Amino acid sequence: MHLTDPSLKRKPLKAIQGEEMKTLLIISDIHGSLGAISRLRKALLQTKVRPECIIVAGDLTHFGDYDQAKEIIKLLRELGSSDIVYVPGNCDPPSLLNREIQGAHLIHLRPYMSNDLIFIGIGGGGISPFNTYIEFTEEEFEYLTNKLLHLVKKRRDHVVLVTHQPPYMTSLDIVYSGEHIGSKSIRRLIQALRPLLHVCGHVHEARGIERLNSTHSINPGPLRKGYYAIARVSLDKQIVELSLKRC
Ligand SMILES: [Zn+2]
Repeated sequence: MHLTDPSLKRKPLKAIQGEEMKTLLIISDIHGSLGAISRLRKALLQTKVRPECIIVAGDLTHFGDYDQAKEIIKLLRELGSSDIVYVPGNCDPPSLLNREIQGAHLIHLRPYMSNDLIFIGIGGGGISPFNTYIEFTEEEFEYLTNKLLHLVKKRRDHVVLVTHQPPYMTSLDIVYSGEHIGSKSIRRLIQALRPLLHVCGHVHEARGIERLNSTHSINPGPLRKGYYAIARVSLDKQIVELSLKRC
């Protein structure tokens, strides 16, 4: 599917007169924690943050099923954003890779346009010793990243890339042992695509922000532990603010 394809879901550009920036709420690794979502809801109310879009970088559930993922999306909808985009993580059921949950937009190899930004991503984690639900070899990630590049041939500067797996050899893919477990293909994808923003998760202990060429790459940390992030994007598609938060 190309971006010019009429089947591409498109949302009309909002009348945003007077509104200077869009707020994106960035979360990952919820692992089924309903309590963490309600704490986040309170924090957003207190700080008067009303996100235009919520980005979920995977692991909505902790080895849960489709219905549990649906329950998580239902609660996220109560955070007051009209748009939720997500990719499944390695701890989500494999059915989430192609079955979209109502009320949210699955962006695993599916571009979704909202407010003139294109959201697209790749779900799943790398091969691990834990035999989790959605794991890909580096060769499979290479195939998926090539497919994604084919889907976003145009307008790359408006792309927000979301992957559960972090890019290799960054501050976002170091596990406790000191080993880098990220994907080389995802790193190459960021360098080739140069998206406006890249969001990842998966490595709970590697929360942070990294710059790869012109792209800011962020792992907000696990929402299960109260971590999230906020990005503010100006109307001319510049990242004005990117901040790590805790609730
Ligand atoms: Zn994960």
